[in-house]
Amino acid sequence: MPDPRARIDELRSAIRHNAHRYYVLDQPEVSDAEYDVMVRELEALEAAHPDLITPDSPTQRVGAPPSTLFGPITHRERLFSLDNAESEDDLIAWEQRIERVLGKRPDGFSCEPKIDGLAVSLTYEHGRLTRGATRGDGAVGEDITVNLRTVESIPLVLLGDDPPAVIEVRGEVYMPLDAFDELNESQLETGLSLFVNPRNAAAGAVRQKDPAVTSTRRLSIWAYQIGAMEGGPSFDSHSESLAWLRDRGLPVNPQSAMPIDLEGVVAYVRHSESARHDLPYQTDGVVVKVDHLAEQRELGFTARSPRWAIAYKFPPEEQTTTLVGIEINVGRTGAVTPYAVLDPVFVGGATVTNATLHNADEVARRDVRIGDTVVVRRAGDVIPEVVGPVPSLRTGTEVEWAMPDSCPFCGNPIVREDGQAVSRCTGGFTCPSRRREHLAYFAGRSGMDIEGLGFKTVDLLLTEGLVDDAAGLFMLKADDLLGFEGWGEISVGNLLESIDAARDRPLAKLLTALGIPLVGTTVARTLARRFRDLDVILAADEETLSAVDGVGPEIVRSVRDWAADPANRTLIEELRAAGVRMSDPEPEGVDSAALAGVTVVVTGTLDGFTREQARSAIEERGGKVTSSVSKKTTAVVAGESPGSKLQKAIDLGVPVLDSEGFRRLLEEGPSSPAVT
Ligand code: NAD
Repeated sequence: MPDPRARIDELRSAIRHNAHRYYVLDQPEVSDAEYDVMVRELEALEAAHPDLITPDSPTQRVGAPPSTLFGPITHRERLFSLDNAESEDDLIAWEQRIERVLGKRPDGFSCEPKIDGLAVSLTYEHGRLTRGATRGDGAVGEDITVNLRTVESIPLVLLGDDPPAVIEVRGEVYMPLDAFDELNESQLETGLSLFVNPRNAAAGAVRQKDPAVTSTRRLSIWAYQIGAMEGGPSFDSHSESLAWLRDRGLPVNPQSAMPIDLEGVVAYVRHSESARHDLPYQTDGVVVKVDHLAEQRELGFTARSPRWAIAYKFPPEEQTTTLVGIEINVGRTGAVTPYAVLDPVFVGGATVTNATLHNADEVARRDVRIGDTVVVRRAGDVIPEVVGPVPSLRTGTEVEWAMPDSCPFCGNPIVREDGQAVSRCTGGFTCPSRRREHLAYFAGRSGMDIEGLGFKTVDLLLTEGLVDDAAGLFMLKADDLLGFEGWGEISVGNLLESIDAARDRPLAKLLTALGIPLVGTTVARTLARRFRDLDVILAADEETLSAVDGVGPEIVRSVRDWAADPANRTLIEELRAAGVRMSDPEPEGVDSAALAGVTVVVTGTLDGFTREQARSAIEERGGKVTSSVSKKTTAVVAGESPGSKLQKAIDLGVPVLDSEGFRRLLEEGPSSPAVT
């Protein structure tokens, strides 16, 4: 067997290097998953060779020594890291380890979202916030008191009489997703580089030299633990201590739960993983803790983590890989989008080979070069994207990219108009890429919703010359398709039936399907509701279109330009000739102003309405449907299994309606007792 010493040394030095970049510089070079692999390998080697464990090994320590940018603060009690679980089996093994120490199963567990931010310690003396520190290496952190004082959700004074003489509260400072998006938008506008993720942005924000900068970054905190305490109440359980923290004005995560047994923990973990993208902040797992403090004391700590807690980690959504090339795609409106060709990488539950780079400006702004090691992100249903390069890993052989002058699909020039971020292929529908994208979009879910007509079928129709534009779909005959691989009587019959059904879609669907730039589902619905007839919309002058609420000058220009293009006029006439409906009937008995000024958020499954029907019912009556709850929301309609929007409504005191209440709102308007 080779001497493990050399590998152990190598791993230790790589881990130390990366920990410093992550914890101190806020500039990681490798993804968390890659870092974790190195740590796990080192742990395994040390477990096999305990004689080689040294007290300075990264497995025996927390984080990294603090930077010298801020004064040091010695924590009254050490802060710890957490052991990780990656599977249900890991959780079971953890419970068995606990059982061996306690001689029985623990009395109960507490489950909390694992917030992807950074750990801080807040010290309150006689109820007043006197110190705030980073975790640092667990023993000594950085003094960031002035910065933490600017975080609005951190109370400067605890609520209630008789505060403890000293109490140290641990929590995770994080940047909510909307604050993160807003920050990156402003970075873009001012030409500054983007933050890779909310954790990174939060870490950078609390470690600013100027607290005024921190205060603009909209940070928040969830408190999750009491550390040292003098002269305060005593608690029997962790959950009691959290309730006490909440009473004292510290934000404690309402998603926390107290399952009795491990089965409950597993159910909590499963649910949290599937619902993680419904939360307005980023989580990377679930922290499970033994609830009884007496049991916690008996279990104690290892060198770097408590034995009574474990972090169940969700599968990673960010990975690093090599950017092999940059290619372009011509979309349905002719817009040219660069995308990354990657060394295949498993991230967010799938192997990713391509990822969007948005547009040429983004490639330049993120300074992404061919050959770079890049961070790739794939979260939930969102299209994979290249977050940015890891510049410190450059070798000097990377190549900068530029937008080509002509379209690789049709050879026509690619142009970019002044003041526009988007470059466009000038080939119109002669460009095969544009035609393909347009047809797939036309038939897609938000367009004419033709079941069974995805990219694969579109490719067949185009390459075999069966169809050359959207109107051609309606001319398809069974004989055209029969005999191609995978196309028998039944599948052809089904497709033709779906195409036939699409002749009778509401105007908003047709309008969306046409792919007029800037006219997506929302604008299409607005225009359809207002004019009810495609010819009227396409003939409308600037003044008429501008008068529509929600239709700005750019949309007006786009609609008028589209309508003026003879190729588009021909398409409309062909669609009309194919029997496609071009107008909506007047709704009967609906007062189109009954819900004027009303804003509704719909969440969960409603009894008697699909989401789309609920939305139309509100919009037909002049109301607005939005996706996020704010103080201005008139009501939240919550069906079965509502998401976090329900909690937000309750927190903000916004009326919540069930299906029945919703029906009354539609019938009686905003003065309905259901709302008031
Ligand atoms: P950890 O993130 O696995 O777990 C401990 C931390 O969880 C605590 O310090 C606390 O900040 C946090 N936490 C969030 N919610 C909590 C809750 N409800 N209760 C208790 N704690 C909660 O451990 P760590 O030591 O902070 O960091 C390890 C992580 O950092 C790993 O995911 C690792 O991949 C990443 N890392 C990455 C790099 C890199 O180069 N990419 C380098 C170092 C560390």
